[in-house]
Amino acid sequence: MILDVQIFMKACGHEPSHKLISLYHDLVREEVGELEEAMAAFNASETEAEEVAAKAEALDAICDSIWVLIGLAKTMDLPLEAGWDAVASTNLKKIDPVLGTVRRDENGKIMKPDRWVPPDMVRLIKERNEQRKANELSSAQEAGGN
Ligand SMILES: [Mg+2]
Repeated sequence: MILDVQIFMKACGHEPSHKLISLYHDLVREEVGELEEAMAAFNASETEAEEVAAKAEALDAICDSIWVLIGLAKTMDLPLEAGWDAVASTNLKKIDPVLGTVRRDENGKIMKPDRWVPPDMVRLIKERNEQRKANELSSAQEAGGN
């Protein structure tokens, strides 16, 4: 999914900029708005045909939302893959290794395991910034003939 969006962005000549970030942010709001409409239609559907139409609208809105969210993350130079892996890892740790299912408290809320730590997004952003600075430095050195 991420690569598809990157190929498209490259073909569009999309380079990170504040203008492009703003554009993708607008697109995210638009697509999530379309999802709201699709969900309203789904909740109001009374016939199978209405439900099929609403689900098709929801699928379209979800895919478009994912697309522009990836675009927003890439435009902001966020380490999306690393962020996703961190979220997936911390969520999957909520699966009890013995039961093979999540454990819930008396209110039905999924319980976090002992010593559970949330994803460290600040660390990921700092690492991405360091990586970018190192890349910029090596590009500058290559351009300088060193
Ligand atoms: Mg759409």
